[in-house]
Amino acid sequence: MREIKNFINGQFVLSESGRTFDDVNPANGEVIARVHEAGQEEVDQAVAAANAAMNGPWGTMAVAERMKLLQKVADGVMARFDEFVEAECLDTGKPKSLASHIDIPRGAANFQVFADLVKNIPTESFHMDTPDGLGAHNYAVRKPRGVIAVVAPWNLPLLLMTWKVGPALACGNAVVVKPSEETPHTATLLAEVMNEAGIPEGVYNVVHGFGPDSAGEFLTRHPGINGITFTGESKTGTAIMKAASECLVPVSFELGGKNAAVVFADADIDKAIEGTMRSVFANCGQVCLGTERVYVERPLFDEFVKRLKEGAESLRMGWWQDENVNFGPVISQEHRQKVLSYYEVARKDGANIVTGGGVPEMPANLSEGAWVEPTIWTGLGEDSAVVQEEIFGPCCHIAPFDSEEEVISLVNDTPYGLAAAVWTENLSRAHRVAPKLEVGLCWVNSWFLRDLRTPFGGSKQSGIGREGGVHGLEFYSELSNICIKL
Ligand code: NAD
Repeated sequence: MREIKNFINGQFVLSESGRTFDDVNPANGEVIARVHEAGQEEVDQAVAAANAAMNGPWGTMAVAERMKLLQKVADGVMARFDEFVEAECLDTGKPKSLASHIDIPRGAANFQVFADLVKNIPTESFHMDTPDGLGAHNYAVRKPRGVIAVVAPWNLPLLLMTWKVGPALACGNAVVVKPSEETPHTATLLAEVMNEAGIPEGVYNVVHGFGPDSAGEFLTRHPGINGITFTGESKTGTAIMKAASECLVPVSFELGGKNAAVVFADADIDKAIEGTMRSVFANCGQVCLGTERVYVERPLFDEFVKRLKEGAESLRMGWWQDENVNFGPVISQEHRQKVLSYYEVARKDGANIVTGGGVPEMPANLSEGAWVEPTIWTGLGEDSAVVQEEIFGPCCHIAPFDSEEEVISLVNDTPYGLAAAVWTENLSRAHRVAPKLEVGLCWVNSWFLRDLRTPFGGSKQSGIGREGGVHGLEFYSELSNICIKL
């Protein structure tokens, strides 16, 4: 049995309490590793190690030197590519094709991109006039914020964690990472890469455990941290914000969504189907940016539903290593129960089940896995919980619409505001509609096309702040203004 330990001050450590929990492969229910849960003692040690690192060589290291080390981390991940792919697939059950095209290469790129970016960021300066005629110069210096607590989810474990750790380290901070209890593997493997790359001890620390009354809460309440970056559910965001308020620690939040796709009758239907297939079913529907509501202009409605149904029914479920497989399980039995409870609500609310709606028949070796059928509904009212609440599963509801004004109001009628996709060949319409959608990210004729220099984050209850490109610097560093009287 593999042992997954905490990583503190450059060393792999067990927890003093001796408490462990199982890491389960959701494809077949097998326990793949025993994880050592961090208690208050380990979290204290990790935060102390990170603070010590800020006062050690890391805190005074030249930017160019730091960037070289981060490049080594990126190279180190790629050098152990197959191990990372295996670790991610065992923890999540996701197909190898997905982990090897998205999770791991993007995870490595997150170190490279932010290292390149930080090298080239100017700061502002202003000359001011003064009554004595001599004036003064102001210039800003950018400093690391300090110790950043990174709390990560399970859906894209390495990618979303390094999306925070990359810019945090590039800006000169030290981090304490709390990976999801469902996916502890790749954060721990990354610790080995950090040591191999020569990242000084205490700069990257990992504490394993759960949220309340466990490592997540101990970390986010800790007085020794200087910022919290969190990706996960909106209600967890509320709990973390309360914790952060005690020490007035700044937060950066990437939260839940109930994202819509809008398909106009003039859309290129092949592209719209291909994009919507990905946005609904990629990673078994467990992508924060994924689509759970589809609005199709009435003349195209029947054809769109028919073609999305054909697409859903052609998905191939199975074991992650099988090259033909493009659809995995959901993350856990608990999450499967949540998704299936919405399948039940849809039935009770009178949905027309276009396809799916239940649990698939799997071969004996996968019968203990957390599998659910890809599912499409039509015919629900907008007030159904299925249309209002985030399900985070491989499913969507499709509804017809008749006008631009109507669809804009349907898309915006939610407390969430993360992402949207608009499909149309009419350029003026695209420019007209996209800015009216209350979301942080809107794609036109695409989905999940990401330039890492662009702002990333959610509006309304989908997030606080923007990460990505220079925007992340607002959170991961602090500006001091120096005013010099001449
Ligand atoms: P989650 O909120 O249950 O857990 C996320 C992390 O928070 C885990 O590490 C968990 O242990 C920790 N945690 C839970 N309670 C805590 C507490 N009280 N204090 C401190 N830490 C706590 O989310 P999840 O189920 O892992 O991920 C799925 C959710 O994440 C979905 O809602 C999805 O939309 C969202 N998400 C958002 C984005 C985005 O960019 N906006 C990206 C990916 C996922």
